[in-house]
Amino acid sequence: MRLSSPELLVDITGLKELSGIRVQNGVLRIGALTRHCDIERSTEVARHVPLLAQAVVHVAHVAIRNAGTLGGSIALADPAAEYPACALALDATFVIAGASGERRVAARDFFRALYSTALGSGELLLAAEFPLLEPGYRSAFIELARRHGDYAIVGVAAHVRVERSMMSDLRLAYLGVGATPVRARRAAAALEGKVYGPQVVAAVQDALGKDIDPMPDLYHSGATKLHLARVLTGRALAALAQ
Ligand SMILES: Cc1cc2nc3c(=O)[nH]c(=O)nc-3n(C[C@H](O)[C@H](O)[C@H](O)COP(=O)(O)OP(=O)(O)OC[C@H]3O[C@@H](n4cnc5c(N)ncnc54)[C@H](O)[C@@H]3O)c2cc1C
Repeated sequence: MRLSSPELLVDITGLKELSGIRVQNGVLRIGALTRHCDIERSTEVARHVPLLAQAVVHVAHVAIRNAGTLGGSIALADPAAEYPACALALDATFVIAGASGERRVAARDFFRALYSTALGSGELLLAAEFPLLEPGYRSAFIELARRHGDYAIVGVAAHVRVERSMMSDLRLAYLGVGATPVRARRAAAALEGKVYGPQVVAAVQDALGKDIDPMPDLYHSGATKLHLARVLTGRALAALAQ
């Protein structure tokens, strides 16, 4: 994107240790060099992190998914990208390595500002660790783009627990509405302990205005984006309730 002009370019593609998807210690660990197409085809991802499986088909086009990586997307931190919002919704953890060793950073502390993350100079993202899907939980990923494969205008990553029609522990993370992915905690609280229905959906959509104040882009005002976010939220809740 010509955002920077590095004097030195280091190709990390050959670091096999940074690639792969495996369940370990109660999480699904996805290496930073794992390509989008591998995430798309992974039965482990579909089984343990279905939100990511739903999101990956929205990442660009097949040609780009054949080359781009999870780590590249997370490190780039485009606010309209799919993985950062999924990571935020699922409370994922990022494993980072530098000269002084390894450290782990929660997704909520990782995305700092536009294209800016907790990665320090000289640090490498090794992997992302996603909690395994727990019984009773469901996920829905929905986004609106001008054409399929374009970066989203607005999108939502949603995850919830459903027990005897009652919904709880809703997580809503939005892409395309700010400088970073944004978690909507007040909107989520409006659903806590309730059964899905039109009034509950309206309460969540209403509360969303207290969580997000979308920045305009070249084509859409902030008000339009908030409206779209509310519409997508309604669709996501409907999908979760099914
Ligand atoms: C036409 C087009 C459409 C696209 N549409 C979408 C879309 O809809 N949604 C979406 O999410 N993405 C989209 N992308 C971006 C795509 O998902 C890329 O995969 C993503 O930008 C990362 O690319 P990459 O893995 O090659 O990383 P690179 O481009 O090589 O790296 C991106 C940045 O991250 C750094 N980096 C990479 N890996 C690491 C690491 N392991 N540790 C630390 N830093 C690292 C690099 O230094 C660089 O600064 C699109 C790209 C194109 C060209």
